[in-house]
Amino acid sequence: KATASAQIGVIGLAVMGSNLARNLARHGYSVALYNRTAAKTEELVAAHGDEGTFVPSAELADFVASLERPRKMIIMVKAGGPTDAVIESLIPLLEEGDIVVDGGNAHYEDTRRREAYLRDKGLHFVGAGISGGEEGALNGPSIMPGGPAESYVTLGPILEDISAKVDGEPCCTHIGPDGAGHFVKMVHNGIEYADMQFIAEAYDILRSAGFSAPELADVFSEWNTGDLDSYLIEITADVLRHVDAETGKPFVDVVADAAAQKGTGQWTVQIALELGVPVNTIAESVFARSSSGHTALREAARAALHGPHREASDAAQRAELVENVRQALWASKVVAYAQGLDQIRTASEQFGWDIDIAGVAKIWRAGCIIRARLLERIRSEYAAHNLTTLLEAPSVAAGLESSQAGWRAAITHAVANGVPVPGFSAALAYYDTVRAERLPASLIQGLRDFFGAHTYHRVDKPGVFHTEWSGDR
Ligand code: NAP
Repeated sequence: KATASAQIGVIGLAVMGSNLARNLARHGYSVALYNRTAAKTEELVAAHGDEGTFVPSAELADFVASLERPRKMIIMVKAGGPTDAVIESLIPLLEEGDIVVDGGNAHYEDTRRREAYLRDKGLHFVGAGISGGEEGALNGPSIMPGGPAESYVTLGPILEDISAKVDGEPCCTHIGPDGAGHFVKMVHNGIEYADMQFIAEAYDILRSAGFSAPELADVFSEWNTGDLDSYLIEITADVLRHVDAETGKPFVDVVADAAAQKGTGQWTVQIALELGVPVNTIAESVFARSSSGHTALREAARAALHGPHREASDAAQRAELVENVRQALWASKVVAYAQGLDQIRTASEQFGWDIDIAGVAKIWRAGCIIRARLLERIRSEYAAHNLTTLLEAPSVAAGLESSQAGWRAAITHAVANGVPVPGFSAALAYYDTVRAERLPASLIQGLRDFFGAHTYHRVDKPGVFHTEWSGDR
């Protein structure tokens, strides 16, 4: 029978759980291991047992018994039903004060429910968003733990230890109570959708203007040395440079053009609709992936519809286009971050989470998929100012001001040449909406009052008004 010697445990040893367990072991923690299928536990110990101290168990009861109290364990199984199943089998084995972490991609409402359920039983439940993929899990992810602040006192130092670092500072912080961590991870993924959509649109505009895939790899590499410096831009250059071994063609030309999705982007948009937060860049990015997968519809439309004649461009025009697209990419990216952070701020107010936005930007600077140079600017702006929107931050507003001509020119070029840019356009529409002196919503209010007596407010006096429209017809 196992003796209580492990400092932390991992349940679920597929790619994420295995790598997280190895990361913990490499940092000197003794790690209890359990996986429903015991063979995987054995494989992990056989392959990487020399990386640190592992305490494997074939039975969940032995796994729990092998943990020092208060017990700390991270569940890394398939999100949804499997997570509930693991929690249910853990409950009879745990004791008051034990800490159960769910590191999977859970929906924050599930996390709220599970946290309340376990709190009732004297247990701590921590929904922790973990970003960085398998590579991050092994070498340092960005970790977004929610749950009771009390549990962070013992759990936090371990998670901070294994997280990515920026100048020695961990990419892990206590986000807020119950579902706050998973909510922030969800929005992180929503922003990731937008980031990738913008990159794809930049590629599409330039590829349509005659650039080859390897030429564009160089363009993205060059962009990665400036304001756009980010993980996704960096790997875009790698993907564009990659040649398919079988055909000798650019890899990007042999991949089917239907993008898949696992659901966190969709959640972000669904919840944004419920909260009334306009995340149109993220919504367009989710829709763009859906559009790409509508094979039959695309085939039917392709046969019936035609676009404009594409103008050939000379070298000078092409160089100018590259710069315009770079500015469109940067400005749109800023808008997507502004929208995502607005969604986090709104949810934080609604659920009483008290999330520190500067802290969120800080832990996204490394380890996660959306890590980017821009995040340091966002962190410092939120730390220095009380912002309603990222877009009002002095350095951000100045950056948008200097990018807007190129941003508009890139979209104009795309529209004239029939290249779809739903992400860039949504970002610019948002920019033009929020900065507008007056919006045509006044006319909408007029129409609503006309057909439905829905009433309206006036700009010149307080109160609720209705007009008797019958005399106007
Ligand atoms: P996964 O494919 O999502 O899940 C496989 C693991 O879940 C296996 O250990 C499997 O055990 C276990 N499992 C499934 N159903 C179970 C059940 N009913 N009871 C007990 N265990 C069950 O694995 P993953 O890709 O490593 O991801 C783990 C979690 O991390 C997921 O929630 C995922 O969304 C999240 N995540 C993944 C990434 C990524 O890049 N992959 C990034 C961030 C977060 P058996 O071996 O017995 O089948």
